Amino acid sequence: MATREIEIGESAEQWIHHADDSIIACRATGHGWPKIKPGKASRYIKVTPDHDGCYQLVQICRDCGMQRMMTTLPGGEINFPAKYSYIQPDGYKSPKGSHVIPRDCLAEAWRRTLEVDTYKMRTS
Ligand SMILES: [Zn+2]
Repeated sequence: MATREIEIGESAEQWIHHADDSIIACRATGHGWPKIKPGKASRYIKVTPDHDGCYQLVQICRDCGMQRMMTTLPGGEINFPAKYSYIQPDGYKSPKGSHVIPRDCLAEAWRRTLEVDTYKMRTS
């Protein structure tokens, strides 16, 4: 069995064990960002007019509440590469230097899933 070269510490173990299900899921497999679609407003997307015809665009993860923000160019144009900034939900950040990787969170999400028998798995 392969093992990780960097073992996570006790503080990381505690964080993983106590983190919210949605945070563990997002850190395991990515955020549920709302899609931007014409004619279909989402409550997970906030658009605020800013100076010089710019817009402040905020997308909110439907699962954990992470906020991803971008400011457009004047007139609303999005330049590439657009820079995002983020606001993390409470409890998202793992302890400093803890080396928690997505696979650790996936393992925890799966452990919790099995614990409550989410998929009603039967072997016989
Ligand atoms: Zn998320």
